Amino acid sequence: MAVQCVKCGKDGESITAPLFMGRLEAEIKAKVCQSCWKEWEGMRVMVINEYQINLGDENGRDMVKKHMRAFLKLGEVVDISKVQENFKPQ
Ligand SMILES: [Zn+2]
Repeated sequence: MAVQCVKCGKDGESITAPLFMGRLEAEIKAKVCQSCWKEWEGMRVMVINEYQINLGDENGRDMVKKHMRAFLKLGEVVDISKVQENFKPQ
């Protein structure tokens, strides 16, 4: 299965693994390819460290979601330039 990815703009492999993203899951899987999702998983660690986000806190989890939507171009706009400057994909 291929997906037209909104992040990289290419037809990519779709995500098959469960993401545990609740109601966002269907949207992410319909719009984002597997390699961009992998990229986000690396980015997520950077975001959490950079902003010292506490995932036990609902505001913290919201913050991560906002960054995820911005990173994957799912409509949210936040300033992530600070994190992206330091981000080096493996
Ligand atoms: Zn992609």
